[in-house]
Amino acid sequence: MADRILIKGAYVLSQDPSIGELAGADVLIDGDRIAEVGTGLSAEGAQVIDATGDIVIPGFIDTHRHTWETSIRTCAPDYALITYFSAILDQFAPRYRPADVLAANRWGALECINAGITTLVDWSHIMNTPDHAYAAIEGLQDTGIRSVFAFGFPNTSLVTWWFGPDYQGSVERIDGDLGRALRAGPLHDDGALVTMGLATRGTNFCKPDVVRYEWELAKELAVDITVHVAMDRFGYTKGQLTALRDLDLLYPNTTYIHASHLTDEEWGLVRDSGGNVSLAPQIEIQMGHGWAPAQKAESLGIPVGLSSDVATTSSADQFTQMHAVFGSERGRRHEISWNDGLDGLEPTPDLITARQVLRWATLDGAKVAGIADRTGSITPGKKADIVIIDGHAVNTFPIIDPVAAVVCAADISNVDTVIIDGVIRKRDGKLVADLSGPRAAIAESRDYLVSQVPAQDGWVVPALR
Ligand SMILES: [Zn+2]
Repeated sequence: MADRILIKGAYVLSQDPSIGELAGADVLIDGDRIAEVGTGLSAEGAQVIDATGDIVIPGFIDTHRHTWETSIRTCAPDYALITYFSAILDQFAPRYRPADVLAANRWGALECINAGITTLVDWSHIMNTPDHAYAAIEGLQDTGIRSVFAFGFPNTSLVTWWFGPDYQGSVERIDGDLGRALRAGPLHDDGALVTMGLATRGTNFCKPDVVRYEWELAKELAVDITVHVAMDRFGYTKGQLTALRDLDLLYPNTTYIHASHLTDEEWGLVRDSGGNVSLAPQIEIQMGHGWAPAQKAESLGIPVGLSSDVATTSSADQFTQMHAVFGSERGRRHEISWNDGLDGLEPTPDLITARQVLRWATLDGAKVAGIADRTGSITPGKKADIVIIDGHAVNTFPIIDPVAAVVCAADISNVDTVIIDGVIRKRDGKLVADLSGPRAAIAESRDYLVSQVPAQDGWVVPALR
């Protein structure tokens, strides 16, 4: 393989404000990094990719996905969040073996690469044993994806790990010793492809001493926290931010997932503490978390990342999430104008734009993942995480606005080439990796898990009582 790759003649949507959007432009990759962006570049001996008329973007960033659930993809299309808890987390998760986690993380990461996602925040709350943790990391590393492995907690009992006895909050702590071992072992290098985060449950789900232990563990390990907040109608998710403030645990760079029902006071806490949000709009509107408040976050200067959350219920790619947030956030503004009686000849004010959406899916996602220093834009010096979108396909051609072509028209089938860390992982629309082994493993995992939770018993177990 050539050390250098020269992508020629594309629409380059750099997401770097100092570079902007270029037509007929080239990107030179040298080793694992972007060397140059411009027109008329040449590089003797480089592997040349003719991308004339195609669209080059920084790789998508998925800022929150429970990748271990890939084994049971789309088993729950009609679930609401409450039934998801009781079936997926209480029935399937305790039965996962390390081999299931390995198969699911490997297949899920391959799914990401295929869809142009070059960075995945793996929200891994399937740490049922240490072997589960090492298997999850191995699955990611096998594929060459860039990933923040957000180390979480076991899912051996819904009552113990989410709602606590009598729903008074979990009494179990994340296994700090295992976290320390991972940090000293496979996740010791903050410059590696797979780095570490901490996936916590937080206030109201856990007793205050458990919350404090987990937040202090993150500080000790020098990793960022990611936590679900303010989702659905659950009393558990109300007041989580103010409770964190009262515990003096509002850390900078914390990712608040969903954030559907934050109060204005809590939004202020997110902003003032240097937090960010990860929104999974397709999942949130489908399963009942609430609207994806991207516009609200943006208005406060809070970075917005998009995420696919669970493969059990929806397609897990950024095109889906971009469509969902673009439609839902504009829809909410249109409804306000309708209710305000705005004159029919005036366009609805304050609508989000396609360019905002693409930034959320790329550069802002990298900020949320905590790695915008190395990815998220096509900037010389950053890591070469780059996607080429086919601009000649029946659903993308003809191109007038290349941003609109990506946000509104393109889908996974148009992801022609994916480069991560300077390595080509997909080319001419096909993954480079041999899929036969990973496919056999994920099939075995699905068969095993489904056999453990028979459909005839009903995957939708009675809601929490
Ligand atoms: Zn989630």
